[in-house]
Amino acid sequence: MSMSTDCIGCGRGIPAERAELGYTYCTAPACQAEYRRGPTVTAVAVNKSGDAFRVAEPDEIARRAAAGEFDRKDTGLGTDPVDVPRVPAQRRGPRRPPRPVTPSWTPAQEKVIRLYADMGLSPRRIAERARENTPRLGITEALAVRVLSGLRR
Ligand SMILES: [Zn+2]
Repeated sequence: MSMSTDCIGCGRGIPAERAELGYTYCTAPACQAEYRRGPTVTAVAVNKSGDAFRVAEPDEIARRAAAGEFDRKDTGLGTDPVDVPRVPAQRRGPRRPPRPVTPSWTPAQEKVIRLYADMGLSPRRIAERARENTPRLGITEALAVRVLSGLRR
C-alpha cells in the first residue's frame, strides 16, 4: 500500500520521490513561497566540467539565473534538489611499478667495485672479495657487472 502524500498548501499530490525526501508541499511556486524555509542547496552548472553546489536564497538563484550567470539544473524536484555530487571516476592508467627497473647503487659500492676492477679482478672475484672485506655493502657479481658496464642508476 502506498502512502499518498498531498501538498499541505494546495492539496495536490506530491511526487513519490519528493515525498520520500520528506517534503510536505509541492513544487508549485505559490507553495514553495509559502512553505519553504531556510537556504536552498541548488545545483548549478557553472561550467562544462561538472556541477557545483552552492547555498543561496531562492531569490538570489532566480535573479542570477535570469541574468544568465548559470544554467539551473532541472532535477525534477523543483528547487529543492538534494542530488549527491557525482564521484569522479577512478583514474585509469598503468600501475606504477613498485620498484625502479634499474636498481641503483651507492657510492661506497661503486668505489669498492672500481677499486677491485682496477686490480684486474673479474666481477665474480670482485663479489667474492667484497663479501670477505666489506660484507655490509652487499656487493654481488651482478651489481659489479652493472657498475662496470657503465649503466647508471
Ligand atoms: Zn502545493
